Amino acid sequence: MPIYEFRCRECKKKFQVVRSIAEYDPKKVTCPKCNTKKVDRVWSGISVQTSKKS
Ligand SMILES: [Zn+2]
Repeated sequence: MPIYEFRCRECKKKFQVVRSIAEYDPKKVTCPKCNTKKVDRVWSGISVQTSKKS
């Protein structure tokens, strides 16, 4: 399952979310610490398979 890394804009905490592709919805991701939805996706060398076009 892919791991999505986020950083909270409020508390600056980085956290990871593990979701299947089907369940993953960035609008539903909240900070585990302060529960805000003001989170930014972080791309830190995590290889996530995106859409395959072949
Ligand atoms: Zn937070």
